[in-house]
Amino acid sequence: MKSRRNVENLLAEEAETQHWNRRKTQFQRLTSADLLDFSEITEKDLKILFTGSYQLSQAISYLAEMMNESGKIILYYLKTSENQNNTIIKILVRSKHINSKTYKCYIDYTCHSVSYSGIRRYVCDCPNGRCTVGCCSHIAAVIYYLSHARYLSKIIRPAEILSHLFTAEEVYPVINDDSDED
Ligand SMILES: [Zn+2]
Repeated sequence: MKSRRNVENLLAEEAETQHWNRRKTQFQRLTSADLLDFSEITEKDLKILFTGSYQLSQAISYLAEMMNESGKIILYYLKTSENQNNTIIKILVRSKHINSKTYKCYIDYTCHSVSYSGIRRYVCDCPNGRCTVGCCSHIAAVIYYLSHARYLSKIIRPAEILSHLFTAEEVYPVINDDSDED
């Protein structure tokens, strides 16, 4: 991962030169039958990809807040590029703040890969979205969902985590920094 530190975010440039943001394409609602070629990643590997357990807990917390009343995650996506080996998807992530700005996340992944090595590149149009080591909370939430959470029987809501805080050992803290990150 360290080798990526000084690497320009090429996916950001590609999105700009290809005018992906301006393209008027219909987004599809993500169903359980979509993007099944996305890597399945264990929590241990997600921690490596996100550079720590704190970042993983942030992703879980962010995702839980995207849930609707019936416990469903509604995401909209489209494929901006696709070939036999890799696919680039664009996913819309609604900010959890009141202004509810929608961020555009791009993820370039190797189809049917194992582990986090299949996540080739990613970029988001939020202020922290161009990092190449670790990632912003939007990208983290999307990767966590596509690679792991949607295979779980249930995604834990932050309120439930809080209510279990004093009884369970293995609990992810729900800490929301008041940063402008999201
Ligand atoms: Zn972002």
